[in-house]
Amino acid sequence: MYTEKDKVICPACKSELEKLHNTNLVDEEKLKIFKNPRRILEAHFPIIRDDGKIEIIEAFRVLYNGNRGPGKGGIRFHQDVNLSEVSELAFIMSLKNSLADLNFGGAKGGVKINPRDYSKTELEKISRGYVKEFFNYLGPQIDVPAPDVNTTPEIMGWMMDEYDKITESKNPAFITGKKIEDGGSEGRDKSTAMGAFYIIQEKYKEVKNKQEIKIAVQGFGNAGGTIALLLHNIGYTVIAVSDSKTGIYNSEGLDIEKIYNFVYREERKKRLSEIQDEEKISNEKLLELEVDILIPAALGDVITFENAERIKTKEIVELANGPVSPRAEEILLEKNISIIPDLLANAGGVIVSVFEWEQNLKNEHWSLEEVNQKLKDKILKAYFEVKSLAEERQLPWRLAAHKIAIDRILEKNK
Ligand code: GLU
Repeated sequence: MYTEKDKVICPACKSELEKLHNTNLVDEEKLKIFKNPRRILEAHFPIIRDDGKIEIIEAFRVLYNGNRGPGKGGIRFHQDVNLSEVSELAFIMSLKNSLADLNFGGAKGGVKINPRDYSKTELEKISRGYVKEFFNYLGPQIDVPAPDVNTTPEIMGWMMDEYDKITESKNPAFITGKKIEDGGSEGRDKSTAMGAFYIIQEKYKEVKNKQEIKIAVQGFGNAGGTIALLLHNIGYTVIAVSDSKTGIYNSEGLDIEKIYNFVYREERKKRLSEIQDEEKISNEKLLELEVDILIPAALGDVITFENAERIKTKEIVELANGPVSPRAEEILLEKNISIIPDLLANAGGVIVSVFEWEQNLKNEHWSLEEVNQKLKDKILKAYFEVKSLAEERQLPWRLAAHKIAIDRILEKNK
């Protein structure tokens, strides 16, 4: 399908598409539209740092495909951001939005910084600078950004304000994941975890004694911390959690409520290493624990060719984007480890983002119950669609999810 001459911006997208192609599940000719991202924006803009020095900031926004509507996807701030990764994430967003049956295309943005190295004033300059660079290609009916790794409701607020200034109008629907007072939706902050929670609850509904189900969660940020707490609160046994530096472990189950309060009670988020009375475990070892459900909820590519053989969980629920590499997936499937893919497991975030956009455009504010009920209906609909195709055609869940999503996008080929 691809020749040497084709410039491959996103090797991971290429390998996913080739898998689909090889299984003859979709029309090869039509699939050509996925070969490269539809639109790539790249900027190198200066900011003046607190010490008066100039720094050049590298930023991206990629629209992978816009067949189904305006672009939609978050912006991440991370030191490893690069064009290939942003493109891959934009590709995943195209599929995720389509699978959840949202009328949006897929996009993603990134800024190559470690936000911990910058003051609040500097982060505001970077956020506003991002909008100044790309505003022509952003907007409620063009491409709608949102939070992603290391980006917060406060950052969304700065970006919205910058867009309003430039366009001399009020456009809360320009961006989602805002604070409630800026036009944010109830439930958006917990929605990524909530979506996965509804899926896990559905999948394990026959198990009466939830305590029997052992869980490890990698990542204790917004998504990881929340899913650990939700599952703990209804009786699942969470035996390990971690942040980017350390993990904590207890084979009998951790008191997640206590840990969550410790980490999040005060304004400064605490590190898990500051917890004294629990056994420590490395991130690598956490992934290799013998559990029923492993939830990678941090960054991509944490389960690779290198460690896949040592993974002992029965099931992986991908709360992060792209935590399992394609080569690792082959090994895991051989070992009969099932994977609920990111585009299903973490679609809760973008689903509620789209609810936020809708509320902004209609000038409405929905209750938390209404938001959660709508989220549950939407994500479980996608879950049942993937489940039935996977069972009917004997496909891994990711492939089934990709087929459904891609077919829907290709229907809109012009
Ligand atoms: N960053 C989230 C994701 O990867 C949410 C995107 C959005 O809300 O647009 O799905």
